[in-house]
Amino acid sequence: MQEVIQGVWLIDLNFLGYPLAIAAYLLIGRDEAALVEVGPASTVETLLREVERAGVPLDTVRHLLVTHIHLDHAGALGVLMQRLPDATCYVHPIGAPHLADPSRLIASASRLYGELMDTLWGPVLPVPKERIRIVQDGERLQVAGRTLIALDTPGHARHHHAYLDDASGLLFAGDIAGVRMPNTTYVRPPTPPPELDIEAWQASLSRLRTVPIRQLALTHFGVFEDVKRHLDELEQRLLDWGHFTRQLVEHGRSDEEIIRALQEYGNAEMQAQGVDPSSYDLGAGYQLIAMGYARYWRKKLGASP
Ligand SMILES: [Zn+2]
Repeated sequence: MQEVIQGVWLIDLNFLGYPLAIAAYLLIGRDEAALVEVGPASTVETLLREVERAGVPLDTVRHLLVTHIHLDHAGALGVLMQRLPDATCYVHPIGAPHLADPSRLIASASRLYGELMDTLWGPVLPVPKERIRIVQDGERLQVAGRTLIALDTPGHARHHHAYLDDASGLLFAGDIAGVRMPNTTYVRPPTPPPELDIEAWQASLSRLRTVPIRQLALTHFGVFEDVKRHLDELEQRLLDWGHFTRQLVEHGRSDEEIIRALQEYGNAEMQAQGVDPSSYDLGAGYQLIAMGYARYWRKKLGASP
């Protein structure tokens, strides 16, 4: 665990036994605590153990905020509702119905992950409706002694908020600011199907550039201060990989071919910078990235999906 600013701790959820894959952020106030991101149900024991290790009694954890409902960010919510009796969860209006009834979320994740579903994510339980608080764009939430401002930031998913800590300028960015490992500068765009929207993502990045962000707190993985450079690199690569995959789709390449080509292309970029590609794959693997782009272009270009 690492204190990133006063009262905000980064918890490494040690996903599948790997460090630096999925983070949750613990906000400790005077008499209550909050989490931003809770990870999947498969890491819930690690999460709760680390919260207690930080000296926070579980019955004071009152607010569970998730940037979006993908299982690596929010899959634990259903289980946590049972383990944290006083907690409310906060979610984007588009994500809320899928927390109350996760059947479509489970079906869509099962198409991507197949038999690995349970090993990866653990049980995805419904969240009781009365414990879901729907958050609108621009809302200022008072949690754990802080003011967090919700910023609707679609592109990676339609149901995505980033949360700005008003006092410090720390932005809990979810996936809209990409994937980056500590001690590197390389930013990878996580572009899974089915909701990738490149134009919306660019608009979200433009919006973030107008916000007084001092540090980016990424879920994959950690806190970074070179905000402008980071967002510029992400946007450039989002477009560059878009251009690369569009050509492959236009040439009628199969998913398998596109995955392999993008992996070679991306890994060559990373190796040129001395970055270990495998360290990024748990946060955003090439298979989902390539499939997200391929689906996006086939739809856009009017080809069969
Ligand atoms: Zn995501």
